[in-house]
Amino acid sequence: MTEPLRIAVLDGDGIGPEVVPAALSVAERALERQGTGLQTVRLPFGATAIDSHGAPVPGSTLEALADFDLWLVGPHDSASYPADLRHPAPGAVMRKQFDLFANLRPARAVTGVRATTPGIDVLIVRENSEGLYADRNMAVGSGEFMPTPDVALSVGLITRAATERIAIEAFEAARRRRGHVTVVHKANVLRMTTGLFRDVCLQVGERYPDVRVDTEHVDAMAALLVRRAGDFDVIVTENLFGDILSDLAAELSGSLGLAPSLNSSADRAMAQAVHGAAPDIAGRDVANPVATISSIAMLVRWHGEQSASTSALRAADAIDAAVAHVLADGLATADLGGSASTTEFTAAVTAAL
Ligand code: ATP
Repeated sequence: MTEPLRIAVLDGDGIGPEVVPAALSVAERALERQGTGLQTVRLPFGATAIDSHGAPVPGSTLEALADFDLWLVGPHDSASYPADLRHPAPGAVMRKQFDLFANLRPARAVTGVRATTPGIDVLIVRENSEGLYADRNMAVGSGEFMPTPDVALSVGLITRAATERIAIEAFEAARRRRGHVTVVHKANVLRMTTGLFRDVCLQVGERYPDVRVDTEHVDAMAALLVRRAGDFDVIVTENLFGDILSDLAAELSGSLGLAPSLNSSADRAMAQAVHGAAPDIAGRDVANPVATISSIAMLVRWHGEQSASTSALRAADAIDAAVAHVLADGLATADLGGSASTTEFTAAVTAAL
């Protein structure tokens, strides 16, 4: 038996308390089969933390998170919080405090799921610490402000250092995939900010002669993802563009309920599905758990790569294979046109392991 994985778990709001335990049970089984255990610690987060601690991300949760390299985090539903606790959003607080600068969001069509764009298999590498995200792009204060009640301004931040580190993530990922990076920008309009982003990515690309590089404007990229997604592999872009393109890519691959994501720094990673709290379906055992199950697979794989742990890498592969097997078999939750409950789907994935 090798050292167990230690994961901090934040269930979150809405469907979080349904899909997060589902993902944990799958990961526990997969790791167990590789002779590795799973130790989890649950921390207060979201609406329940407002009730118990007066804040969606209590100070005690942030302190405890610092002791963990691996986190599994459910969605938050800030729209349901009291007005004075809605900003900054919990995810932003955590990403900023721990500098989780890289957000990896894969979207892939899989057998058994009707994808709008059948050939899609992309990895969106989203810069997560600056751009137009007003809640994290300033050391003090917010990047959005209103000089008068009728005038609103927003400051976008792009730095060479942050662009360089996200570009390295993208080119390294491309080497592990199909060797192609597309840099997405809007340098015909946002010439200085997204122009710097594009230029720094291209400079980093020169260090990767084995990786093919091209560039696209973000609007063209949205159209091209619909028309010929099969031509793209890794897409690297700034924060806001990455957020929008990854929801689009997720839907094109079948459903937002399938889309996983990993946020990481050099020494820490947080798995969190792309989707939100889905309050419209919460508490009914109908949510698709795949996004969170696949997110924990990314987390376990990240750990395997960081610590050269073959058992973790095997467990991650086994989780992905089990999900693919169950989907290919035709079992589907309501978002995919089926009638399987969250519990039934999770049990099928666990059995497939
Ligand atoms: P956020 O802004 O927090 O990302 P959102 O407003 O984009 O949230 P979601 O909560 O992601 O919205 O929900 C968008 C739609 O997708 C809703 O109809 C929701 O029911 C559906 N949805 C989201 N996640 C899932 C899931 N895991 N399974 C099934 N349906 C889902």
